[in-house]
Amino acid sequence: MIVIKRYRLRRLPFQQRDDTIQHIIRSLHEGVVLIDPSGTVLLTNSAVLNIFGLSRDVIGRSARALVRGSALAAPVEEALQGRRAEAEYARGGRAYQVLCSPAGSGALILFLDVTEKSKAEKLRREFSANVSHELKTPLTSILGYAEMLASGMAKPCDVAGFAQNIRREAERLFSLIEDIIMLSELDETETLPATEPVNLAEIVASVAETLQQKAEKYGVALHSETAALWVSGNSSLLHEMLFNIVDNSIKYNRRGGSVTIALRQDGLQVVLEVSDTGIGIPQKHQERVLERFYRVDKSRSKQTGGTGLGLSIVKHIVAVHNGTMDLRSMPDRGTTVTVKLPGQSEQP
Ligand code: ADP
Repeated sequence: MIVIKRYRLRRLPFQQRDDTIQHIIRSLHEGVVLIDPSGTVLLTNSAVLNIFGLSRDVIGRSARALVRGSALAAPVEEALQGRRAEAEYARGGRAYQVLCSPAGSGALILFLDVTEKSKAEKLRREFSANVSHELKTPLTSILGYAEMLASGMAKPCDVAGFAQNIRREAERLFSLIEDIIMLSELDETETLPATEPVNLAEIVASVAETLQQKAEKYGVALHSETAALWVSGNSSLLHEMLFNIVDNSIKYNRRGGSVTIALRQDGLQVVLEVSDTGIGIPQKHQERVLERFYRVDKSRSKQTGGTGLGLSIVKHIVAVHNGTMDLRSMPDRGTTVTVKLPGQSEQP
């Protein structure tokens, strides 16, 4: 927001004052149109020309003719009659909030680009709808089994099985809630508030140790090749990131398969690569698996305790560490996830 001290502007000679105002308006990123009481455009800037896709200036043309038949016609008229009005306007794939205010006996129209904000709001709305759906599913199962047990309708031989189902669904609910909380926290984080030197080799060793038992249960061999390589970041987030990637490589694998975690330096970057010999991801799903709640095979993901949020969490953690992420996969051959993070030149 630009604040011009009134007294300073007033002290300027008329021509200079006019030039200053025009210069400010022209350099604004927001689209600005000033119109006189008859509706003729007095002043505008390049942002407006971009919005309307115009190659020539519109000064001297009728603003009414420019907005005729669009959502802007009514609010522009309102402003010319001395009342403030607002409108939402979409053009060229972008969304604008348009503020029309009386200015002297004419009107001032301001275009604010709200495309990113609208997209974020849409995603948030979709996420909330998905969250309710995802939470309801295990809860409905838990209620069903609990009601059977409470009513005494369950055969004694089924009781243990029902209790196990309740436990499995409750665990799913717990993982979902944990992942949703983590994503919500990451949504609030644009950059890391505090960073520390982190030795990725230690993260690799710790994740491999934590997941060793799971790998054995799935009949998957877990290998890691590492050397001490340092990045600047948050160690618990980096642990979560690698855990999710390796956990997937074990879950979406087959008996006798393997997972390899490799760590190497590439110029100024540290490269973390997890490759598996698992079921792979068909091409058409590869772009979408990073989306929240997207799963290739919903039942397999649920069977293995998946929430559909693991890779979205990974994507977020990589982003807050200013890194990049790449996923390559061949159905029936396996998947490789590569994360590149800026390395830390000076080791502690
Ligand atoms: P989930 O909790 O379902 O594992 P993720 O966000 O971690 O959720 O992954 C999304 C989907 O991507 C999974 O459901 C699975 O279909 C697919 N996927 C992820 N990693 C792999 C992998 N290494 N091999 C095969 N499929 C994978």
